[in-house]
Amino acid sequence: MSSIFTQIIKRKLPSKIFYETDEIIVIEDKNPKAKIHLLIIPKIETKNFYVTPLKTLNLLNETVKVIAGLLNLENRFKILINNGFGQEVDHLHYHFLSDYGADKLKFINE
Ligand code: 5GP
Repeated sequence: MSSIFTQIIKRKLPSKIFYETDEIIVIEDKNPKAKIHLLIIPKIETKNFYVTPLKTLNLLNETVKVIAGLLNLENRFKILINNGFGQEVDHLHYHFLSDYGADKLKFINE
């Protein structure tokens, strides 16, 4: 059984997509905790931060910088990673949060 995020990646479930490459998808959290609450998700299914190869973590880190740049939030965002503790979805994702820059939040599938 694939994860909720894999079903979103395969378009079996809907989501608001902010950014996408062959390896990563960035969607809006369905229950936002800030004016901007994005989830940066690798397309490969990997359970959590601890078990994920550095190559994939580097890709996620690079994507954080891309997203911050696109939203002009270079100095005004927060990243949260739940690793087992507080983790609801067992498919690695970074939470990207900010209360700034919401005017720049345009989804590619809207
Ligand atoms: P976790 O606690 O695993 O770090 O966070 C999982 C996040 O995924 C939560 O903030 C939750 O709101 C979000 N989420 C769960 N299911 C869905 C979904 O089907 N669509 C979207 N866009 N977000 C989801």
